[in-house]
Amino acid sequence: MAVVTRFAPSPTGLLHLGHAYAAWFAADAARAGDGRFLLRLEDIDRSRCRPEFEAEIFEDLRWLGLTWPEPVRRQSAHFDDYRRALTLLEGRGLLYPCFCTRADIRREIERSPTAPHGPDGPLYSGRCRALSQSERSARMAGGESYALRLDLEQALSAGGNNLTFHDRARGAIRCDPRPFGDVVLARKDTPASYHLAVTFDDDAQGVTLVTRGEDLLPSTHVHRLLQALLGLATPEYHHHRLLIGPDGKRFAKRDQAATLQSLRNQGHSPEELRAMVGLDRGT
Ligand code: GLU
Repeated sequence: MAVVTRFAPSPTGLLHLGHAYAAWFAADAARAGDGRFLLRLEDIDRSRCRPEFEAEIFEDLRWLGLTWPEPVRRQSAHFDDYRRALTLLEGRGLLYPCFCTRADIRREIERSPTAPHGPDGPLYSGRCRALSQSERSARMAGGESYALRLDLEQALSAGGNNLTFHDRARGAIRCDPRPFGDVVLARKDTPASYHLAVTFDDDAQGVTLVTRGEDLLPSTHVHRLLQALLGLATPEYHHHRLLIGPDGKRFAKRDQAATLQSLRNQGHSPEELRAMVGLDRGT
């Protein structure tokens, strides 16, 4: 089976050296497997995405020498798909509406400072899980906004136990999404979350090998569970190292000096960048 990989940036800022590494890593893996490299725009957060960043992503990636099939998938064009997936989970009783505001959650955490922390921050207490159906309906009818959370324990017993996934660098990994607690699958302001959209799209696009930074390895446990619940294919994974900048920290969108745009303007060539990020010439 031909390998299909993808690079999936969010157009919320300029790409930096770490993105160049991730994009080349995905494209190299596709080439090594006689496969295809796809580009996807993860633009569900409409308040933070900007058309100018999107245009710059295309320009930067072309400058790096990458090509991809058009049209690229834009997550913002697929909210209906994500809604259908949520309806499916809801129909199985695996979701519940959460009316808590950020302030409610903060207050609760302050009250119990020893509450466990997960990869996305302090674990949600499950307060809204306990609401009765009539209370939920009344609050919805009253126009209160709500997020949708996965009832993790229900989800695990509905087919999410004994799951594994394979990481090229680490071998077989036993899936344990418990550190995330009742993860949010649809936010109050966005009808999908990163976890739901990315899992749905990797299947929809026939991605067979997900390559991404090792900071996202914990999230893969949630994605594997969602695959089992939604009947989606499980790709292979390769979580790669993260590039560290001269200050010893990971590159971030705020690091202006390491943006591909500024490196290009300073006269660096893509070949120099490949060497800088520790990849061979790859041609
Ligand atoms: N959109 C995510 C990011 O920019 C990438 C998600 C993924 O590769 O799964 O970090």
